[in-house]
Amino acid sequence: RPPLKILLVGSAGVGKSSLMNRFVHNRFCSRYRATIGADFFTKVTELEGQRVTVQLWDTAGAERCQSLGMALYQGSHCCVLVFDVTVAASFQAVAARQAEPPNPKLFPFVLLGNKTDLPGRQVSAQEAEEWCAQTQAQYFETSAKDGTGVALAFQSALQAALRQ
Ligand code: GDP
Ligand code: MG
Repeated sequence: RPPLKILLVGSAGVGKSSLMNRFVHNRFCSRYRATIGADFFTKVTELEGQRVTVQLWDTAGAERCQSLGMALYQGSHCCVLVFDVTVAASFQAVAARQAEPPNPKLFPFVLLGNKTDLPGRQVSAQEAEEWCAQTQAQYFETSAKDGTGVALAFQSALQAALRQ
């Protein structure tokens, strides 16, 4: 089967590249390197008894695409929306993308609250869950640094992508 394309979206610095690095290589780097243009990683994994190739896309330009209906998303099977739980504005950026959460039947997504290892939390799990409440999309709390929740979150994204 063709590769599952997963698109990572979220403000600069929320940890998109770090989450990919954790998921694909099981590593973390504390140095910040801005993603220029588009980056993608490929990983072959087992999902629901099938061997699937996953392409994870980390596009710097995705921040500028206002709606999940835009061309950028057309070739993708699932979108991973990421915010930083210690930066309220990063959650607002995700939530404001559309007044309503996107319809996961039309375009599946999962929401990730990253950097849960850090003190100084500004967004509660409840707030994030409420934003997802009208949809079938799931919310996950993650830390790319210590690995918490990352495998579970990506597994859910891949399952949603597979159902597309
Ligand atoms: P991106 O711009 O969304 O791709 O963000 P990066 O993955 O480049 O991460 C931005 C900065 O946050 C880097 O310095 C990372 O090391 C750091 N970072 C990313 N994820 C985490 C996390 O879960 N916990 C902590 N403490 N730092 C993180
Ligand atoms: Mg990046």
